[in-house]
Amino acid sequence: METPVLTIVVPCYNEEEVFLETAKQLTGVLQQLQKEKLIASESKLLFVDDGSRDRTWELILEESEKNPLITGIKLSRNFGHQRALLAGLQAAMEYSDCVISIDADLQDDIQAIREFIIKYWEGFDIVYGVRRSRSTDTWFKRATAQGFYRLMQKMGIALIYNHADFRLMSRRALQELSRYDEANLFLRGIVPLLGFRSTQVLYDRKERFAGESKYPLKKMLSFALDGVTSFSVVPIRFITFVGFLSFLLSSIAGLYAFIVKLLGYAESGWTSIMISIWLIGGLLLMSVGFIGEYIGKIYQEVKRRPRFIIEENLYSLRMKTNQKE
Ligand code: UDP
Ligand code: MG
Repeated sequence: METPVLTIVVPCYNEEEVFLETAKQLTGVLQQLQKEKLIASESKLLFVDDGSRDRTWELILEESEKNPLITGIKLSRNFGHQRALLAGLQAAMEYSDCVISIDADLQDDIQAIREFIIKYWEGFDIVYGVRRSRSTDTWFKRATAQGFYRLMQKMGIALIYNHADFRLMSRRALQELSRYDEANLFLRGIVPLLGFRSTQVLYDRKERFAGESKYPLKKMLSFALDGVTSFSVVPIRFITFVGFLSFLLSSIAGLYAFIVKLLGYAESGWTSIMISIWLIGGLLLMSVGFIGEYIGKIYQEVKRRPRFIIEENLYSLRMKTNQKE
């Protein structure tokens, strides 16, 4: 096998506090791997600026002047983590044999990158970074994350437990990934659907190096709901089932009430009426809400809007001139 060209894709949103340190550490990793001849000399770091409002893009530009390993792509506005990642993966795919995605905040163990590459040499197309423990997360984040994985698995969605977006993919896996052109992208759910030879590498997740999490509770909840409704129709079936059950129960109760009435023992009945109105109202609202979720998804998909817009692409410029040399 030829020495592979590796690109490490790093989505960044308002990461001026961590960027320099991240760039430094990842540069170290690339240099080490190049020295060991595990990756080719054209290997690069690709920072995707997801419409940051701080100095992230300026820093990327500055560093790229000094450090030939550093390149970047600037999106025209904030498109969100998944789409920023996709923009990076698709750009990197053209010039790389394999691509690793990692967050900008150094929470993932960069030492695992070497193991990823070794797995690639062994012939794996996809290598998942899997957290060994979540001891540094708050109990709240841990509990919600655990609940999320359980829920997804119950619904038959093949998520890798404790794997986020820290992974290696070969060029051919990425090419297949590009054929999944849905607007609501949930990479963690799609990548396992690709098949290919895949494996896992365990690592310890650290605390965010600096700055704040860009996933506040509200975003986390919508991420989870997106994840569920993009992959599964189980909620719709569940609603149908609950609706059917409640219809059955209320028919029996209705029959009972009718007989009681015929026999002349009818109660004033206020409680039961109130309860059933609230119950049915609740069920209806819930059902309509869920169905609305899916219709919203369809609405977004049929529009076929671009998933990201690139404003500046330093990476492709660099790689093109590289090839000419
Ligand atoms: N991110 C992004 N766009 C966004 C939000 C986040 O590109 O709209 C990036 C962010 O810079 C980081 C990664 O996605 O590199 C994961 O975000 P974060 O660390 O805040 O999430 P957490 O680790 O708390 O889940
Ligand atoms: Mg993080």
